[in-house]
Amino acid sequence: MGKKTTHKFKAEVNQLLDILVHSLYTNKEIFLRELISNASDALEKVRFSATTEDAEDTIAPEIRIDSDKDAGTITITDTGVGMTRDELMKNIGTIAHSGTAELTRMAQEGTESLDSLIGRFGVGFYSVYMVSDEVTVTTRSMDPEAKAIRWTSDGKTDYKLQELDEDIPRGTVIEVKLKEDMVSQFANNASLKIIINKHSNFINFPIIIEEEQVNTVSALWREPKFQIKDEQYAEFYKFLTYDSEDPFDTLHTAVDAPVQFNALMFTPSSGDDPFGMGRENRGLDLYVRRVLIEKQNKDLLPEYLGFIKGVVDTEDLPLNISRETLQDNILMRKISSTLVKQVLNNLEKMAKDNAERYAEFWHIHGNLFKAGYVDFLNKDKFGGLVRFNSSISEDSKELSSFAEYIARTKEDQKEIYYAFGPSREALGLSPHLEVFRRKGIEVLYLYEPIDEFVMDAQRDFDGYTLVSAEHAEMEKLDKFETLEKEDKAEALSEDQQSVLDKLLTRIKDILGEQVTEVKASQRLTDSPVCLANPDGNVTSSMDKIMRVVSKDTSIPKKVLEINPDHALVRNMLTIFEKDANDPFIDQAANQLFESALLLEGYLTDPHALVGRVQDLLTKSSGWYVETTK
Ligand code: ADP
Ligand code: MG
Repeated sequence: MGKKTTHKFKAEVNQLLDILVHSLYTNKEIFLRELISNASDALEKVRFSATTEDAEDTIAPEIRIDSDKDAGTITITDTGVGMTRDELMKNIGTIAHSGTAELTRMAQEGTESLDSLIGRFGVGFYSVYMVSDEVTVTTRSMDPEAKAIRWTSDGKTDYKLQELDEDIPRGTVIEVKLKEDMVSQFANNASLKIIINKHSNFINFPIIIEEEQVNTVSALWREPKFQIKDEQYAEFYKFLTYDSEDPFDTLHTAVDAPVQFNALMFTPSSGDDPFGMGRENRGLDLYVRRVLIEKQNKDLLPEYLGFIKGVVDTEDLPLNISRETLQDNILMRKISSTLVKQVLNNLEKMAKDNAERYAEFWHIHGNLFKAGYVDFLNKDKFGGLVRFNSSISEDSKELSSFAEYIARTKEDQKEIYYAFGPSREALGLSPHLEVFRRKGIEVLYLYEPIDEFVMDAQRDFDGYTLVSAEHAEMEKLDKFETLEKEDKAEALSEDQQSVLDKLLTRIKDILGEQVTEVKASQRLTDSPVCLANPDGNVTSSMDKIMRVVSKDTSIPKKVLEINPDHALVRNMLTIFEKDANDPFIDQAANQLFESALLLEGYLTDPHALVGRVQDLLTKSSGWYVETTK
């Protein structure tokens, strides 16, 4: 056996060890993750050189873990590349990473938690000294000339090296003598298995405890796509999500530039409540070289793609990166923007290849997806992917894209019209849409408040402006021909026209400050009146949302538009012409105004309206009895 030599740790290692040993760092179990990932790296190196040099490698690539309660030890054995004496001294006697001095300074200042510091600076191997005060590394390099060598240290100031004469096989054995208070927690196989399943489940080599492989699920995302069957994807998906159903869609990608990563993303076949409990469970699991770094990371995909489940694995991040550092990591941002593009491209392809399938997707996840109106970087793609019900649809399930709407527009039409309403039926009766029905102009139907935010953010699509039907400029609609010949009321004579003007003034007097203006309407066909917004900025539904937010319960002032061709208005004209002060005009004006408020959802007190209806019914039933006698 060779002579035992003693070597001092490099100064910075010393300080680091001191910090680790004396810290109250709670997540001590990560030492195992670090040792296993080092073993896995070492095995990976063998595999790499085996394919280039000799293929006849008889040693099985594996990681064995044993524990001994009585001795208070854990042993991690791998059949990887091992280390020569020089490598040992270089790798486990110094810290290759720069910045250790800085880490030490920051740890001493105590301004940042050790948790985040360990993450920021790669200090994998040394984390073992959080649980141990004596570690022995026995290793034999795969280099046939190399001798076996043993390294021992209490993790304080120095380490001992000794060459061995035994002809041990290639690989590394790490024996960890646990600190007394760590024995019960770690020197038992059951808890080691739990820790391995938690942090190292997808390590690509068998991890064996008591002749049993602990990591049973292969890292499917790292395997070539063409080798994977649908059932394997489904099985993996269920393992990952606990979902009992197969995924609706699977997206498996490998990217090399601008950053390397593999991703396996699933779209579940049912959606969770977009803004409810499911929210916590969102996010992709982030791996670095098959080692789990963070479950359900919330930064890789934006909220609106939160329905996607899956994993991302990159070679480009350090294994020890902490969650805090992840958040403002530039590589993470690159991965994220690439992932978003991939998901959107995949949806585009689905929509193009199989519209029915895309519609199905929309019904499951569309409500959450709509929140993507905030993603201005992908505005055009997003605009291509949103779907709406339309006035020309067969039923409320049928959907249209902006592009489909555009393909159906009239010649010269440069607007995409939309209207918000509680239901397809209500919109079908809305006075605001009468002119559109009359001219056969399609209107997209919006049922959810978020739809209006989508329209507001989108503003235009492919050169077409999005316009709320309420705000449509009549001049733009006038140029389109009226579809069917209606039995139009006779045109008003010039005299009648001036009576109408006076009637409008009278109605404005009656309603006073409740309306900004009373004017004759061109948009109405079947309804006698409707309320319109004085300024063209906010739609009534948007206004309602804003009022809820600002707790404003007043009734907004609007323009009352009157349909001069409606029979009721014509009767009012006749009555008004005879007697400008006839109380019926008062009654009718208030009634029409309040029913318009009711339709718009602003009428809070229906008492006056109901009283008037009953009064009018009483009178008209009297006349009815008289005339049918
Ligand atoms: P990192 O893994 O980030 O390089 P570590 O502190 O975890 O940092 O390990 C330091 C180095 O020690 C590794 O890069 C590797 O060269 C060497 N090493 C550690 N464990 C093993 C092992 N089981 N087999 C071979 N080499 C190892
Ligand atoms: Mg390491």
